[in-house]
Amino acid sequence: MKYSKLFGKTVKDAPHDADSPNARLLTQAGFINQLMAGVYTYMPMGLRVLNKVKDIVRDEMDALGASEVFMPALTPKEAWEKTNRWDKIDVLFKLEGHGGKEYALGSTHEEIVTPLVKQYATSYKDFPVSVYQIQDKFRNEPRAKSGLLRGREFSMKDLYSFHLDEQDFLDFYEKSKGAYLNVFKRCGLNAKIVEASGGDFTEKNSHEFQVPTENGEDMVFYCDCGFAQNKEIASVKEGDTCPGCSKGIIKSEKAIEVGNIFPLEDRFSKDLNFKVQGADGEMVNVIMGCYGIGPSRVMGSIVEVHHDDKGMLWPKSVAPFHVYLASLSSKDEDLQSRIDEVATSLHDDLEAAGVEVLWDERDTRPGEKFADADLIGLPLRLVVSEKTLAENSIEWKERHEDDARLVSLDDIVEQAEQWLEAPERLTSH
Ligand code: ATP
Ligand code: MG
Repeated sequence: MKYSKLFGKTVKDAPHDADSPNARLLTQAGFINQLMAGVYTYMPMGLRVLNKVKDIVRDEMDALGASEVFMPALTPKEAWEKTNRWDKIDVLFKLEGHGGKEYALGSTHEEIVTPLVKQYATSYKDFPVSVYQIQDKFRNEPRAKSGLLRGREFSMKDLYSFHLDEQDFLDFYEKSKGAYLNVFKRCGLNAKIVEASGGDFTEKNSHEFQVPTENGEDMVFYCDCGFAQNKEIASVKEGDTCPGCSKGIIKSEKAIEVGNIFPLEDRFSKDLNFKVQGADGEMVNVIMGCYGIGPSRVMGSIVEVHHDDKGMLWPKSVAPFHVYLASLSSKDEDLQSRIDEVATSLHDDLEAAGVEVLWDERDTRPGEKFADADLIGLPLRLVVSEKTLAENSIEWKERHEDDARLVSLDDIVEQAEQWLEAPERLTSH
């Protein structure tokens, strides 16, 4: 992809209300554009990141055996009245249509998915069922803030599972934890599983996936043994001996919740009268679980965790492109055409090998190209210039390294392919 063909550009000044690194850097790098508080357009590069995050989520949900659906975001008031949530969910966006008919924009989908599954899962032989969607959710958050971390329209993957017995539910719930940890790890985030409130769904705990970072709104008490509780429900404080292992000392840290899974028990199946005759002939209330991940919040969290004073550092798995190829202009016409020729074939050969290239072919100063390369934060920067061609080479610099080195023209494509295959170096903590 040629840089000059890409819609959007980097901007020098940070937006005045950018209150966090992700808001500032994603806007400056031209990945997102704010329409109003908590609502953003994804520009081409931002969209590529968001789509890669969604693809990782999709991959892990499919591996869990769940089926993807896409439910409407526009939902009727009646659906929410049946579960007594029309007035209870304070962030619900409500709207009025013709003839005074009322609607809500989906903030979550239990009310929609439960009657849907009820139509198809009519016999015990149809269970368990697990369905998910990746869709924008709408929440009238009192304070939208921190860029993609807390929006009023944001991307969510919501998965719902349906079971006829508790053990079957528990097995799936445990399996989902593994899938969630895979998602975050593949996105370059080291998430902790943290016990949290079950909300108004259940007396039991829910489990949050929390990524430690300064700008996190949550506070987590944890021990190295794996014990972790959200401050909201914590039975421990900093310095206590961990009740989990009876040896470690409890520490605290700020964190961002990137995912949350809940046992719903029969909270929704009761209200929506979803009962099925079990194998033994008895009617049982269906047991449910719900499982959320925010791909847009994940994208913002990656920037919170992986940035420096020059810009962002994308893990290879979610970088909008893998390589920033900068061709530097020459005053000499012959040299310039040689630079263009090498850069063109390098771009084409890398793309053919599955390495995604953003080729900065603009006629701008090297300093400007390097500043943009650092800001945008693609994991590998390659430079073609008079100087490198004098050595029959390309300059190679990884975003997280300080030093550049030369790689010969003959080896460059193979080395880039190997680099792409190599394990990720950018994982938090
Ligand atoms: P929070 O406590 O941060 O308000 P929540 O517990 O209400 O979030 P859930 O209903 O559990 O959120 O939503 C599932 C996931 O959706 C969250 O783990 C998070 O990744 C994402 N998410 C929730 N609210 C927002 C938001 N306003 N902006 C961006 N992502 C969000
Ligand atoms: Mg939550």
